[in-house]
Amino acid sequence: MTITIHRGTDQIGGCVTEYEHEGWRLFVDYGEQLQSAQKSKPLQIERLTHGDLSKSALLITHYHGDHIGHITELPKSLPIYMSKVGREIQQLASKHLSSVVEKQKQMAERLKSVNTFSPGVEFSFGPFTIMPIVADHSAFDASAFKITADNVSVFHTGDFRTHGFRSKTLPNVIKKYIGQVNYVVCEGTNIARPEATSQSEHELQRQFEAAFREHKNNIVYLSSTNIDRLFALYHAASRVGRPFIVSCYQKRIMDIVIGRDPIWGKSQMYKYSEEYEPLVLQYNEDGEFRMANKFQYLLEQKGCVLIASANERFNHLIERLSGEKQKYLSMWKGYVNEDCDAYNPKLADSLGKDYLYMHTSGHCDMKSLGELFPLLQPSGIIPIHTDKPDDFVKIFDKDWPVVRLHDGETFAIKKG
Ligand SMILES: [Zn+2]
Ligand SMILES: [Zn+2]
Repeated sequence: MTITIHRGTDQIGGCVTEYEHEGWRLFVDYGEQLQSAQKSKPLQIERLTHGDLSKSALLITHYHGDHIGHITELPKSLPIYMSKVGREIQQLASKHLSSVVEKQKQMAERLKSVNTFSPGVEFSFGPFTIMPIVADHSAFDASAFKITADNVSVFHTGDFRTHGFRSKTLPNVIKKYIGQVNYVVCEGTNIARPEATSQSEHELQRQFEAAFREHKNNIVYLSSTNIDRLFALYHAASRVGRPFIVSCYQKRIMDIVIGRDPIWGKSQMYKYSEEYEPLVLQYNEDGEFRMANKFQYLLEQKGCVLIASANERFNHLIERLSGEKQKYLSMWKGYVNEDCDAYNPKLADSLGKDYLYMHTSGHCDMKSLGELFPLLQPSGIIPIHTDKPDDFVKIFDKDWPVVRLHDGETFAIKKG
């Protein structure tokens, strides 16, 4: 088996990996580069973007734009595989955005023909067998893969972390479904950001709970598809007795997870308590959110936790909340930093100055990565999804052979 990293050996977004055996090709991810690091031109990859596709397929690790964002540009005849609940969430998100973003309309259309897989259920493509497992990440239903061909196996981590709510099971899942592998293709996002993982999701939830108790009206800005954070905030709000208020789009995303995910759907985490179902915002004829008397009275009595988006409709609603208000940013702070390419002026404007920054990363820290490799016992580790590949080599080279590839280079993966 050979491996080629077409993109992603020295940047975080837009990784594209190719596994090849006897002319069959399995690609992993086809997303956008981060705005801050547009290093390469649009990719032209033989047997993926053009040419004979009869022995090619694409696996998607998860629905973040840097992994799935460019699939709309691929030929329709290319088979694509993605996790079931992840596809459903992205379909809803794309439909929601399709009236304002043309590309999302195409994405919703392309997703209709995407095949799905389930974690822990092996499937095959040509000479490859693929075992998907759940990876805990800021995208729900993210996957890591064990890819095997000709008795050679690779564990492709995708984006993942070990400080989330669902991370505890990872060592057991690896023992049960993955075992030892010949190589690991590993994400290394946080090499230069040790502070990004200083808190676990549990600790962050406790911090939110304390803040919700202290402040009457709590307005939180977070990514609408950061499912675990959403449910964490929902439970924190219920515990302190504040109504949890969401848009109908946000509620539909939460509903997809509840009961429909075969593994996590039964967990207490993804359930509504009877006493405090999320309250869904209703619209007036003029397009503003409705503030019926009963609703207003409830908020005056109990305060709220409002999951807000940066737009006029939410801004007007927030103005109408009575009493003390506290805003929170619960996503990467680069979005409100004018010096960053990803700067979002609308978000910065809606957020104002007196907000609390409460967030933790969707990616692994280096100590936890060091604890993962002994479970897999690889003969080599190939870093991707990192802007510091040489630092990755320095950190892990003492214990494991690290193969530092460059974009487009092909490496033969051997047995043993
Ligand atoms: Zn991601
Ligand atoms: Zn990513």
